[in-house]
Amino acid sequence: MKIIGLIGGMSWESSIEYYRIINEVTKERLGGLHSAKSVMVSVDFAEIEEMQMRGDWQQAGQAMAAAAKSLENGGADFMVLCTNTMHKLADEMQAAVQIPMLHIADATAERIKANGIKTIGLLGTRFTMEQDFYKGRLEDRFGLNVLIPDEVGRGVVHGVIYNELVKGVIRDESKRQYIRIIEELIQAGSQGIILGCTEIGLLVQDGDCEVPFFDTTRIHAEAAVEFALND
Ligand code: GLU
Repeated sequence: MKIIGLIGGMSWESSIEYYRIINEVTKERLGGLHSAKSVMVSVDFAEIEEMQMRGDWQQAGQAMAAAAKSLENGGADFMVLCTNTMHKLADEMQAAVQIPMLHIADATAERIKANGIKTIGLLGTRFTMEQDFYKGRLEDRFGLNVLIPDEVGRGVVHGVIYNELVKGVIRDESKRQYIRIIEELIQAGSQGIILGCTEIGLLVQDGDCEVPFFDTTRIHAEAAVEFALND
């Protein structure tokens, strides 16, 4: 069994979900008293969020590269970055270490393709919904047709993440707003929805709408176990 390296704290509300799912899936796979071998480097999200809002991706890249280095020094065999947004800095992180990174968008795209889906809705932070490191990657590397909410909808989705979900605040009104936005994406042709922020699964769950949800936290955590157990 490989040692799973987790970079968490963005936010810790979702990092605990990674830890729980990784251990649950390992127990299901191996039985008995088995649990996953893992190490976690957890950052202070206030510092990271401040860099994001300032648009200081250079400093954020240095912070993420330092976290990757600590993870490698801590004995991890591979890296699992427990946030979609910070995959914007995946190249900087990968350049800092020898161990591989299990990319969250790749794991998600593979699952979507395995389900025969071509047109997919994407919810996440503005960075994730609007930029090439994520939306573009799904389109260019995996040939998916990715639909995102309109400008107002993107503002709502982004705002709920930073003002509520990363603080552990779950509101019925926000869930209603998310479902309305998801229904618009379904109307526009989405055959499924990517919960492309690791906290969104705390607010909406598969079964809330008529198309399948692809929860990046669960998919990434399951892919990590798969990778750890495959020699
Ligand atoms: N956890 C979120 C994500 O998956 C947002 C927090 C962040 O900006 O890292 O994108």
